[in-house]
Formats: sequence, structure tokens, C-alpha cells
Amino acid sequence: MLRWVGTPPPMQLRVMQTQWGSCSPAGRLTLNPNLVKAPRECIDYVLIHELCHLGEHNHGPRFHRLLETLMPQWRSVKARLDGLVEQLMPA
Ligand SMILES: [Zn+2]
Repeated sequence: MLRWVGTPPPMQLRVMQTQWGSCSPAGRLTLNPNLVKAPRECIDYVLIHELCHLGEHNHGPRFHRLLETLMPQWRSVKARLDGLVEQLMPA
């Protein structure tokens, strides 16, 4: 178990037009099922990103420190995923 996550968060799947995932203020994760078509490391990035939001509900310095600890190469993975958006997210 990740040390900042006490219990597994509630999760749901929902097709979203512009997002791969989100985390509600109450800690519910939403994932875009189109993500399953993405390369494994990109799926990991989205999951890790959203799990980090359970600890930090913003994109501040503490969020990025946590993210970088878990996936030091996240920038290149995110860039790869960004490059696949049109292919993986049907309009
Ligand atoms: Zn985020």
C-alpha cells in the first residue's frame, strides 16, 4: 500500500473528452477507459498522478515532489501520452 493512501480509493470508469483521469475532492478516482489502449508506462503515469492527488489535491511543489519520487521520468512519459491523445481519444 502506498504510504499516503490508507485504504484503496473508490474508483469509476467514465469516458471523458479531455481527461485521462481525475480525483474528486472526496478522493474518488475517475479513469477514462480509453486509457487501456495506451502504452503501459502511460497508464502507470495516469494512475500514479491521480493517486498523488489523494495526498495533494493540486499541482503544487509537494505534488510534483511526490510524483517525481514515484516516477522520476514522468515528464517524458506524459509527453509520450500527450502525443497519443488524438489517436487514443476518439472525437
Ligand atoms: Zn492532476
